[in-house]
This record gives sequence, C-alpha cells and structure tokens, in this order.
Amino acid sequence: MATFGTLSDRLTETFRNLRTKGKLTPADIDGTVREIRRALLDADVALQVVKEFTGKVRERALGDEVNRALNPAQQVVQIVNEELVAILGGQQRRLQFAKQPPTVIMLAGLQGSGKTTFAGKLAKQLEKDGHTPLLVACDLQRPNAVNQLTVVAERAGAAIYAPEPGNGVGDPVKVARDGVEHARRQQFDTVIIDTAGRLGVDAELMKQAADIRRATAPDEVLFVIDAMIGQDAVSTAKAFQDGVDFTGVVLSKLDGDARGGAALSVASVTGRPIIFASTGEGLDDLEAFHPDRMASRILD
Ligand code: GDP
Repeated sequence: MATFGTLSDRLTETFRNLRTKGKLTPADIDGTVREIRRALLDADVALQVVKEFTGKVRERALGDEVNRALNPAQQVVQIVNEELVAILGGQQRRLQFAKQPPTVIMLAGLQGSGKTTFAGKLAKQLEKDGHTPLLVACDLQRPNAVNQLTVVAERAGAAIYAPEPGNGVGDPVKVARDGVEHARRQQFDTVIIDTAGRLGVDAELMKQAADIRRATAPDEVLFVIDAMIGQDAVSTAKAFQDGVDFTGVVLSKLDGDARGGAALSVASVTGRPIIFASTGEGLDDLEAFHPDRMASRILD
C-alpha cells in the first residue's frame, strides 16, 4: 500500500524540527500546525477537513496534556496520530451481513474507479471466508462491461448472473432484481451487484443506481473511489452520497502514487467508513481498512 511518500516525509520533517525543542511555546505549536496544514493541502486533502483537523490539533496541543508531558513534542505527535485516526473513521468497520441470506452488496462509483476489479476481489475474498457469492452484472451501459465482469468472475472462481440477450437487456434494475431472486433460489449467500459508472457524475446514472438500490434493498452500498482522484474526491463522494446514500467506501488504487487527499477527506466529509483498501490489479490485492494502521503509515 502507498506510504503517502511526500505527505509522510513532510510530517516526519515537521516533527523532527519539533523534537529539537524542549518545552513548547505557543509559537512553536502554531508553526507546527501551519506546516501540517500546508502538507495536508499539498496532499490534496479537502480544505474543510484540513481546517477541522488542524483546529483540533492546535487546541489540544496548546492544552494541558502537552504542557504537563515529559516529552511535549512526542505528545504533539501522539495528538496528530489520534486525530488522523479519527478523521479516517476511528474504529475499523467490517462488512455487514444480513441475518437472512442473501446479503446484498451493491457497488457504485465513477467509470474506471476500479469497481469491476473490486467486485472480483470481494467475491474471491468472500469465497475464501466460506461464503458463496454471486456477481450480478448490471452495467449495461458499456458494451464490454458484462464481458469484463464475466472474465473477472472466472478468474475469481465465482458465479455470475448476467442478462441473456433479449432478456432484460437495457433494464439494469430488472437484472438486479432478478439477480437477487436467482441468488435466493440457488442459495448463494451473498450478491455483489456491479452497476454502471460514467466518466463524470451524471443525473441519469444516479437515478438508475438509486432505482437499483430501491429494488434490491442492499445490506451494503459500497462507493468505490480512486485514491488518486485528488481534489475531486469530495464533490464526487458527496454526489454519490446524495444519489445512492452509500453505507461504506472502498478506496482503490492505493498502491499508486496517491497523495493521500482522497483517503483523508472522504470518510470525514461523508461520515461513512472506509471498509476496504484496494491495492493492485490482482484479485488478491485487497485489504480490510484499518484507520489506525493507515495513520501510522502516514506518520511513519
Ligand atoms: P470500473 O470501470 O470502475 O469497473 O473500473 P475497473 O475495475 O475496470 O478498473 C479500471 C482500471 O483500473 C483497470 O485497468 C484496473 O486493472 C485498474 N485497477 C482497478 N483497481 C486497481 C487497484 O487497486 N490498483 C491499480 N494499480 N489498478 C487498479
């Protein structure tokens, strides 16, 4: 997974400077907070998140816990670490399963965000955990999307429900509904619904996704977002939150040279937890997301 090279280096440098000091003056704290602020903004973290984050760090760093600490600089680093964990969502959140199978998991996100690849990864991981997933191909927008999911399903060794020509083609909502019904009849215990993505947020697409959500009452709606999306992360995430009210986030392409902004912004502005990190093109490149581990990686 990415170590957030530049962001990580800059914070390390900031803390190194801080450690050369003994007692910290308010000016030292302000200087440190300013450097953290600049490093986060340069890493494409959304302004509102940066403001909130640095505000909390500053308030705590000027308070008693640092004043009384044997090692004030170390205490500030600890505060930054705790606040990073908090904006990344705090506790780890696991996938939620239905009491009565099948568990329905719907995927949404922009085209190219890594949805189809993630569908395969999730199916493979679920199988490894003893589940019986069924992939449902509801991206009928792109001519090749059904084929792509079929290939991914084969590689993952998972079953797929895809529309037959002349049977449901053109109606992704019907395919989704039929797919869940098929899973129920054939006793698959999880259903992963891949939906259409477009290059930009688009009202028609959002309505289609909302219709699929209503028709299938999913237990989880996962919003897949490319970690390299940068400053667009917030507006894209908010549009999908308004449109499909997702329950969790999948950060994809965290193996790339992501600057970290999306990771740090999305959970915070949407209040939805990041559940998975997708870290490569291979079907095994999937990790459960741990806010504390991610914070450690950033501060390492
Ligand atoms: P979709 O349009 O949202 O279904 O996106 P795809 O799953 O087709 O992925 C788009 C491209 O990103 C493909 O070339 C994938 O191989 C690649 N991709 C997907 N997930 C990852 C990832 O976690 N890391 C990297 N490096 N590439 C990925």
